Amino acid sequence: MNTLYARDEVAIAGIEKLRFFPLEVVSGHGCTLVTPDGRELLDLSATWTASGLGHGHPAVVEAVSRAVRSAPGSGGLSAVHPDSVGLAEDLLKLVPGSGERRVYLGHAGSDANDVALRACRHATGRRTVLAFEHSYHGGVGVAMGVSGVHVDAGAAPDPDAAFLPYPNPFRPSSGDVAADVAACLKLADQHLATGSIACLIVEPILSDGGLVVPPDGFLAELHALCRRHAVPMICDEVKMGLGRPGTLHAFEHDGVVPDIVTFGKVLGGGLPLSAAVGPAHLLDEPAASALLTTAGNPICTAAGRAVLATITAEQLPERAAKVGAVLQDALRAVDAEQVGDVRGRGLAIGLELVDPATGEPDSRFAAQVSYRAWELGAVVYYVGGNVLEITPPLILSEDEAHRAAEIIGAAIADTAAGKVDSEEVARYAGW
Ligand SMILES: *Cc1c(COP(=O)(O)O)cnc(C)c1O
Repeated sequence: MNTLYARDEVAIAGIEKLRFFPLEVVSGHGCTLVTPDGRELLDLSATWTASGLGHGHPAVVEAVSRAVRSAPGSGGLSAVHPDSVGLAEDLLKLVPGSGERRVYLGHAGSDANDVALRACRHATGRRTVLAFEHSYHGGVGVAMGVSGVHVDAGAAPDPDAAFLPYPNPFRPSSGDVAADVAACLKLADQHLATGSIACLIVEPILSDGGLVVPPDGFLAELHALCRRHAVPMICDEVKMGLGRPGTLHAFEHDGVVPDIVTFGKVLGGGLPLSAAVGPAHLLDEPAASALLTTAGNPICTAAGRAVLATITAEQLPERAAKVGAVLQDALRAVDAEQVGDVRGRGLAIGLELVDPATGEPDSRFAAQVSYRAWELGAVVYYVGGNVLEITPPLILSEDEAHRAAEIIGAAIADTAAGKVDSEEVARYAGW
């Protein structure tokens, strides 16, 4: 069969594939993806949040069309142009902070984090990066080496990384999440006190590690420790930032102002674009040490400005809070003993699937539910082995939220009833 998917199998490198079912798409609009045979799928991933404004948002279409028609060159390394400077100024306004600050513009969350981490090592003269188990910060360089998810998958960690346990209220390792928080903070304090820590990097909501929402106040206490030891904190908002959690920034929930904030995914409106915002003394030095030729290019930065303007104009954080509450309630109403937990903030939602007999994570079941949901008309992937990651475009309507919960509920029921071919699902390795 010469399907698009079959052609992909022999043409595109496996090294960049993370597949859950044979998803073929030829177009998209709003929260909908369209398959070659015209089937419409409700997109509950938003390309891992990169399509956070949905597909074909008019503001992005307009901005990109204008920019590509008369682009002033193809990058920002050796020339300045209105959209790169403008995007940096927009970000400086939207991200809280004080003192002289700068913006790094890049292509992907990976390079934004990598640059931020390298900048902290350079400025402090220290090597060790304090990160979290099961975290995800990128697929290249130092950002990859400090990502717990990659280490879990067998990749070598950065030789100078130290990992802290991320407190998980649903599965506290000591049986009590308050005790886990205290133990984590104590360990962080011990590391920070050694004087060898270049920076701490943290996701305000652990996403690829299982959509874990930490207890209230955890980020604030962590930040206070970093402050006490004068160690910069990098807050990785690449997946959860820019409206999704019901606030513009996920870190706002705890009232902290991180030293460096990194962005990606939704920022580009579907185009490759990332940013790191932080103190000038960190991000100015050494000059010309992070050179990606097309970084800060006029087309991606025009898209980024349109995305930020749209998030503000359409009040997408407020909308994510409102529609997210509707979706979370609808998911909690799914009557299935395999649903161990539904958690999240706004439109960052995790649904944890468990073995009803033991309460243990059931990864095989999650893979089958994800597959069945695709058969029933929705795109939803899983993270942390057994947690459906439900991160639809921020423009999701309440009707679509109800339909999402119906499809997921039906997929769980069908999987429990043995309607999914487990051998077929096993062909898609997921992660
Ligand atoms: C996706 C992600 C990254 C990496 O972004 P890419 O665009 O894939 O390079 C970094 N941090 C977090 C939290 C992410 O979810």
